[in-house]
Amino acid sequence: MVVEMHAGLASDGGSKLKMLLTFVDALPNGNEEGIYYSIDLGGTNFRVLRVEVGAGSVIINQKVEHQPIPEELTKGTTEDLFNFVALALKSFLEREDDQDVKRALGFTFSFPVRQNSVSSGSLIRWTKGFSIEDTVGKDVAQCLNDALARCGLNVRVTALVNDTVGTLALGHYYDEDTVAAVIIGSGTNACYIERTDAIIKCQGLLTNSGGMVSYFFCFICSQYDFFMKCLCEEKELWCSKCSIHQVVNMEWGNFWSSHLPRTLYDISLDDETQNRNDQQSQQGFEKMISGMYLGEIARLVLHRMAQESDVFGDAADSLSNPFILSTPFLAAIREDDSPDLSEVRRVLQEHLKIPDAPLKTRRLVVKVCDIVTRRAARLAAAGIVGILKKLGRDGSGGVASTSSSSGGRARGQQPRRTVVAIEGGLYQGYPVLREYLDEALVEILGEEVARSVTLRVTEDGSGIGAALLAAVHSSNS
Ligand code: ADP
Repeated sequence: MVVEMHAGLASDGGSKLKMLLTFVDALPNGNEEGIYYSIDLGGTNFRVLRVEVGAGSVIINQKVEHQPIPEELTKGTTEDLFNFVALALKSFLEREDDQDVKRALGFTFSFPVRQNSVSSGSLIRWTKGFSIEDTVGKDVAQCLNDALARCGLNVRVTALVNDTVGTLALGHYYDEDTVAAVIIGSGTNACYIERTDAIIKCQGLLTNSGGMVSYFFCFICSQYDFFMKCLCEEKELWCSKCSIHQVVNMEWGNFWSSHLPRTLYDISLDDETQNRNDQQSQQGFEKMISGMYLGEIARLVLHRMAQESDVFGDAADSLSNPFILSTPFLAAIREDDSPDLSEVRRVLQEHLKIPDAPLKTRRLVVKVCDIVTRRAARLAAAGIVGILKKLGRDGSGGVASTSSSSGGRARGQQPRRTVVAIEGGLYQGYPVLREYLDEALVEILGEEVARSVTLRVTEDGSGIGAALLAAVHSSNS
């Protein structure tokens, strides 16, 4: 993971880890005050949020409204989708009696975006069932700003982020030792705070054909200085004095390495999902970890068992149906601690149409679900340790990167306190997965260092964090 992180930071396309720039170089620290709004588009739910904050990390009031996106809008036109989003915000503001005040808006948009600045970025591709051709390549913040203007709203996007960055922002708001955020829900992803000088792909000394160093105006302080120019996007330039750190969106769901233990079942899952909506990205790491896939991996194992043995008798036809075993059912099977595994019997009967599986078979099914869960949790833990190692916070004391110069630990020193904000339905809803993840962290880091690492759940972090980022960045953009 660390090797791939370096490669992704060195050049665009240098690794399957995209290591996307977010231009978020300041995070909320608890001093924010006022009322901020955010829109969260990209998960299972579309949400509008209003957050009222007071100094000292106090959230005075928060209001969240969930709304399903009509299926036809996910495949229609850009204008229709963004009009829908803007109108939802408008009616929310009307109910709050707040539509006349100028407001900064955080926009959580959890699809791969190439950012041009903290408040703008173009869509690389749609995922998760959305496919609106004419949005690809467009600035999605501008699309929303245009729709907000069409609705007559005095609101504009001041922070465009993905869900991991929102989660990190809320984590940091509560605790400044928060250095990374991880989402483990339907999909999985992570972001972390990187030193600007470690993001090689944005810094290469730009020389013209004559070999002269190029100078530019910094977009933050307006000083004339040399480079810190993003090579992938040429719109924003900043000098080294203005930007020491920046949040990097790893897009770790796409991580792959030959070291990963890929089984027959992972290959079958990949074959099944190749033609799904995520064609351009294999999302190999995600397929081993996230809620969208764990049930299906177990289903593939059980299907093979049914084909090669008679453990399920004659009644296992349903096991040939892809995605018939969802991850919450896999969890229910694994968490059944009744002596006769009655919950396992119920799931097999009601959802897999396998009646009368004997206790021995039910135990076998639990074991399969356990192994799939354990592997997912251990891989997620290894990913988290990868980030800690990159930051020099894994207790090894070694210099993992330029970013670790202050993080390494001399012999005898206490390990530095480190917080990782974490969110997602799978992590929050499945205690066994959490236990295995914690266990693996202790195993890899050792007890002493693991004690210095806190995984902190940030409920609704992606949306609230975006509102807080709107607060932080409203004066900059
Ligand atoms: P999203 O990632 O789509 O924004 P969530 O973070 O809520 O949404 O995650 C939803 C995913 O979490 C579902 O795909 C489901 O697989 C998984 N999940 C939710 N609740 C549970 C649970 N109790 N046990 C296991 N998995 C769960």
